[in-house]
Amino acid sequence: MAILYNDRLTERDRIHVDIEDRAYQFGDGIYEVIRVYEGRPFCLSEHIQRFERSAEEIRLQLPYGRKRLEGFLQELIAKNRLKDGTVYLQASRGAAPRSHPFPDGARPVIIAYTQEAPRPLQFLEQGIQATLTKDIRWLRCDIKTLNLLGAVLAKQYAVERGCQEAILHRDGRVTEGSATNVFLVKDGILYTHPANHLILHGITRAVTIEAAKEEGIPCREEAFTTDSLFRADELFVTGTTTEISPVISIDGRKVNKGTPGPITRKLQQAFEKRI
Ligand code: PMP
Repeated sequence: MAILYNDRLTERDRIHVDIEDRAYQFGDGIYEVIRVYEGRPFCLSEHIQRFERSAEEIRLQLPYGRKRLEGFLQELIAKNRLKDGTVYLQASRGAAPRSHPFPDGARPVIIAYTQEAPRPLQFLEQGIQATLTKDIRWLRCDIKTLNLLGAVLAKQYAVERGCQEAILHRDGRVTEGSATNVFLVKDGILYTHPANHLILHGITRAVTIEAAKEEGIPCREEAFTTDSLFRADELFVTGTTTEISPVISIDGRKVNKGTPGPITRKLQQAFEKRI
């Protein structure tokens, strides 16, 4: 299995993580997960653009530009003959003696590898169960950093309750899921949290909003309360690997009688056309 290591493709077992890598010690780095359908990366330029923005926001200087990175990822997909799966891409600030400030002379480390993964057809069809929990993450959730402990704890909380996703809230306002963005439908109108510092600006979120516009479904980027979750006509979450997954219950309380709703179905169909 080939991987990308800085500016070359090599075999996975030839590469080892330095114990003083800042990604490993501080979570000092950024990442992307890109979906591949039938050998073609979906929304690749959007992912690379977000990767570059995340790098800029944490003042990590990437060693090469967008075109080269895109080329390497395409090469990696081809070399591994990946059909349906994901590409994981990460940049660390590099290895240096452990000390909090940015190190002098450390060189960023870029890695990428592929993984085969089928589409989550059962969840797309039948929906998922969610639980509600506090958003205890930091205040720059718009940066896709390697600091995922808040998300890990939230997801584990969900799993231990027999759920597939945790929906997060700050003081009663829903922000997003542990690894997804959240959409609510009420009286024919779509609501989702505005793309500010409290959520990841999901690429699937943006595709969904665009699809809603084309389908003539009004969409408001406004925060909604946890109370309104329980009164929603429909609820769904979006993400690169999750696509548009209906949420059929929250903490055991059914949404829309426990079945995916018509607007969710319409958006799923519109999404399907794009992939
Ligand atoms: N929010 C969070 C916290 C995420 O980690 C993700 C990505 N898994 C998303 C939203 C969805 O973003 P995208 O559609 O770009 O995958």
